[in-house]
Amino acid sequence: MSDSENDDEETDFYANMITCEDCEGNEFIPDDDELADDETELTNEEKKIRAYKTTCSATCISCGESVEYDNLPWVKMYANYCVCLVIATETVKGKNKLKQCKVDIGSNDDEEEPITVITNDKNVREGDRLVVAMIGAVVPAGGAEEEGENEMTIQKTNVGGVTSHGMFCDESMLRWGNTKNKAIRMPENIELGSRPTRLPPNTIK
Ligand SMILES: [Zn+2]
Repeated sequence: MSDSENDDEETDFYANMITCEDCEGNEFIPDDDELADDETELTNEEKKIRAYKTTCSATCISCGESVEYDNLPWVKMYANYCVCLVIATETVKGKNKLKQCKVDIGSNDDEEEPITVITNDKNVREGDRLVVAMIGAVVPAGGAEEEGENEMTIQKTNVGGVTSHGMFCDESMLRWGNTKNKAIRMPENIELGSRPTRLPPNTIK
């Protein structure tokens, strides 16, 4: 195998997912070589999911500029977002339209305790795999999408007398589309506690 074939494979790993602030190049390689290995058995969708979950910095191929892990666009945007599982629901006392959900957030919680999330999405049920924006997550606040203007940070909130520790994400909160107030379902191959994918999993090419 020639060197150039090797280069091509590595280039594909982050293809068009990051833009370099210095040279506007969009070909990056992950700084941890292990990630580029052993990809032959993966489908394109699996490769992309893996890339979006990558936990290392990346280097611009054109100019050598490095992007730290925390500054990878999908890491920054989805800080404090995670894929979760609804393990129990009950109606909030005296509030017919509010559901109190016990939510497993995987390894995001050191104590491995489920968190409580209150929702008014009547379709949320036990067993649903959703995305939760936890305390500290920055979500779009609706309206225009000018950066910074219409964002809010999720905080511990009293909803109908119960403390809610997050919000289930709809399409607009994930910046996937415009649909609101309808919690997004995630496929089972995306593990609990991981960040959501940057694009809907079924559209990843
Ligand atoms: Zn660059």
